[in-house]
Amino acid sequence: MTIPPHGGTLVQRLVGEDERAAALELVTRLPSITLDPRGVADVGLIASGAYSPLTGFLGRDDYLRVLHEMRLASDLPWSLPITLRITDGAALRDTVALKGPDGSVLGLLEVRQVFRHSKEEEAQLVYGTTDAKHPGVAQLYAQGDSLVAGDVRLLARPVPRFPELALDPADTRRAFAERGWRTVVGFQTRNPVHRAHEYIQKAALETVDGLLLHPLLGPTKDDDVPADVRVRSYRVLLERYSPRDRVLLAGFPAAMRYAGPREAVFHALVRKNYGCTHFIVGRDHAGVGNYYGSYDAQKIFDRFAPGELGIQPVCFEHTFFCRRCGGMASPKTCPHTSECHVTLSGTKVREMLRSGVLPPPEFSRPEVVQVLADGLREVVG
Ligand SMILES: [Zn+2]
Repeated sequence: MTIPPHGGTLVQRLVGEDERAAALELVTRLPSITLDPRGVADVGLIASGAYSPLTGFLGRDDYLRVLHEMRLASDLPWSLPITLRITDGAALRDTVALKGPDGSVLGLLEVRQVFRHSKEEEAQLVYGTTDAKHPGVAQLYAQGDSLVAGDVRLLARPVPRFPELALDPADTRRAFAERGWRTVVGFQTRNPVHRAHEYIQKAALETVDGLLLHPLLGPTKDDDVPADVRVRSYRVLLERYSPRDRVLLAGFPAAMRYAGPREAVFHALVRKNYGCTHFIVGRDHAGVGNYYGSYDAQKIFDRFAPGELGIQPVCFEHTFFCRRCGGMASPKTCPHTSECHVTLSGTKVREMLRSGVLPPPEFSRPEVVQVLADGLREVVG
């Protein structure tokens, strides 16, 4: 028996085969909105139930409560405004077609409301800053002033970049049930998995039945490691260092928003919809630059009553290989000074790989390093 989805029901907003022909015909006569890659990702996630209980883009009541209280109008916790902003929605009525950046038809939006709200206030409340240099804020500022609310229905699923990793919440739930996993910990990442994160995953896995390694494969910043290189690095790590029957690798097709603490809560709630009972929250989860405190993304979970989120955050401090301890550790488990610890920043790792220096095995598995070094050569070459 897997955990109930957020709000109790797994939302399904896919147009059935029997209705598809009529809907595609209807679309040709409708006005349309062209979505950016993040919008495309959001529509897919709404349709698959990953954003349950959301059935579409937020209306004003839900939007304002999410901004100010991290709740939907129904009181249910929800931390990020899932919205569709366009330049001018004043003339929109009834049903509109949703198209991808390439002009292909994705789905339908039943327009319920069009409203406006200050982007600066949204930025301050969601991202904790109005600084246009923050990538999430920059994306918000680049969008239109009209928020279009309403339910969506997906007509055509975008072809996933990694079809074998494209598992919907219903699929992961089935996979957990088949494996007999009653408790599952989810791990979100947009980075390669080095020893520190492998250790966190395995420490959490020691106390539950299974691990969902759920890398974000939607749009990220240009300087994040490309998704195909990351996927190769996850595969080689799992093949060599994880028991097959305890770990499931699947892609999380969302875009990064870099909203730090609020995105950590969002990531947890969404993983509950995928069937996870536990969710790992590391240091500076979903952070960028110095916009958030190292442990803000863990502290924010205290703002909800026990049981209210329905998924258990599992919080970790930063971890490292300690030469004196002779193994992986954290400030909670190691008494030695930082000179004994093997730690490298992402920037430093990149510098090393670029100049042909391989990070030590205490920092990263040699097989992972090799995949990243090869991947970087492809990018440069
Ligand atoms: Zn130590």
